[in-house]
Amino acid sequence: AGQLPRPPKTRILTIANQKGGVGKTTTAVNLAAGLALHGLGVLVVDLDPQGNASTALGIDHRAPDIASVYELLLGEVTLAEATQKSPNNDRLLCVPATLDLAGAEIELVSLVARENRLRNALNEDTLRDLDVDYVLIDCPPSLGLLTVNAMVAAKEVLIPIQCEYYALEGVGQLLRNIELVQAHLNPALHVSTVVLTMYDGRTKLADQVADEVRNHFGDKVLKAIIPRSVKVSEAPGFGMTIIEYDPGSRGSMSYLDACRELALRGAAQ
Ligand code: ADP
Ligand code: MG
Repeated sequence: AGQLPRPPKTRILTIANQKGGVGKTTTAVNLAAGLALHGLGVLVVDLDPQGNASTALGIDHRAPDIASVYELLLGEVTLAEATQKSPNNDRLLCVPATLDLAGAEIELVSLVARENRLRNALNEDTLRDLDVDYVLIDCPPSLGLLTVNAMVAAKEVLIPIQCEYYALEGVGQLLRNIELVQAHLNPALHVSTVVLTMYDGRTKLADQVADEVRNHFGDKVLKAIIPRSVKVSEAPGFGMTIIEYDPGSRGSMSYLDACRELALRGAAQ
């Protein structure tokens, strides 16, 4: 793989859409693996109690006593202590999620600076120590306090949208939440990127949805479209992303194209 430009500053992207099953986790881990393959340092923060991103990166998030994003949010461990290397790539790091995180949304409510816990953990010093160019935060399928923490910690929001019926359903609510966070907690936050996922070229519907999303979001939508492919969904079962599982597949190539666009846009910013 050729090199991609390093961004001048660590780019922090929140992968958000409160709808479940639209490809948030798949997009987070595959973009991360693709960027790391090009020699960039990438940290995935798994903010979903299911821990699917951790699994796909080959990290055993059910191991007893591992430090996870839960302890990080509570301030019990440092970023470096909560971070593990993916066995698939030295430049690919992950703060895993454990099932403890399921209770965190409620526990966080009573903490000081409850919306800023993740931002405080991901500060300039701790990120410099990890030497990462990108942080990708994989959000749970809700707009609760975990997702708010992700939006406060990031500058960019990346929205995956599934090429299916009701694709834009709920996106209005998501955008209003982003505006609220921007107004009250994080003025720099903006939607920088939209990724179309699970595209099935055999259906007319998929093209209609893609057109509709492009009309709505304009050039925020990446040209690369992620096809629906069984292999993409199989890869996590092997503790891999599609980029390691089947590098030459359409799914892998489309995520690599998406990485290139993302990185080149960042360089121009
Ligand atoms: P979310 O994180 O938004 O809930 P996931 O990334 O977990 O969504 O994807 C939901 C399901 O769809 C998972 O089983 C995943 O493996 C599958 N999936 C995601 N992207 C694709 C794709 N391009 N082709 C086929 N299956 C996919
Ligand atoms: Mg997910």
